[in-house]
Order: sequence, then C-alpha cells, then structure tokens
Amino acid sequence: MTTPREAVAAVVDPEIRVVTIDELGILRAVDEDPASGRVVVTITPTYTGCPAMDVIRADIRRALAAAGHPDAEIRTVYRPAWSTDWISDTGRAKLAAAGIAPPAPVRPGNAVPLTLSVRCPRCGSPETEQVSRFGSTACKALWRCRSCSEPFDHLKAL
Ligand SMILES: [Zn+2]
Repeated sequence: MTTPREAVAAVVDPEIRVVTIDELGILRAVDEDPASGRVVVTITPTYTGCPAMDVIRADIRRALAAAGHPDAEIRTVYRPAWSTDWISDTGRAKLAAAGIAPPAPVRPGNAVPLTLSVRCPRCGSPETEQVSRFGSTACKALWRCRSCSEPFDHLKAL
C-alpha cells in the first residue's frame, strides 16, 4: 500500500519534470490528523514568479486521492523561505543528468561569487558564461559552455 508520504513524495515538479517535489525540497511535511484521519501536506513554494504551485497542489491532491485520501488538506508555508540548499543530493544528481546545472550551496559568509563555479553539466568544464538571465522558465538562467559550446539551464541559487 502506498503511504500518503510516498504518494506525495512521488509528485514531479511541473517545470523540471526530472525531479520530485520531495527532491526539490518543496515538500516540507506529510502528517495525518489522528482524530479525523485527514492527510495534511505542508509545502513551501520555490521561486516567486513560478506559476507552478497551483499545478503542484492539484497534482498532490490527485496523488493522494489515488492513494485513498481524497480529502487532504494542503498548507502553504512561506517561512522559512525555500532555498536551493533544500534540493537533495539525489535531486542535484538528477538535475545534472538532465543537463540542468544544480546551484551551488549558498553558504552564509561566503562572499566568493558562486556563479564562478557553474560547471557545464555535459562536459564538466568550469569555462561557462551566462547568456541570458532567463532560461526555459523564470526560475532558470541560460548558460553556455565555452569548451563544448552547449547551452544549458542553470537553476538560480536562492
Ligand atoms: Zn561543456
């Protein structure tokens, strides 16, 4: 039997379909109200300007209904704000495999511009440059590799 947590964790991000909302860190918690038996899902939106959250909510409802929980409650929590640090190692590996350069972890006090460490997801070369602030979606920037001249999407670090 699929648990509510498993059902929700398998929902893929509507914009970056190779990763789940769990791997992206959007999914904060899946609880079951002991009194009513209602499933309560807590999510934190990623980038403002990404119109994906309505789709994600609908997909969560659909997944839970299929797992036998049609009356789930979805709570949206904005604090603490989502950060690219919440992307799991599995999520980062899947993004890289899909040609999307995962953002480097944002460490407080680290003043070195992290954009310098954007590596080409295809050949691994650090010789890359930003072509456009906006890639295929508002959440991604378009980059190009100077070594293999392939363009790639880079998830903006937050
Ligand atoms: Zn390259």
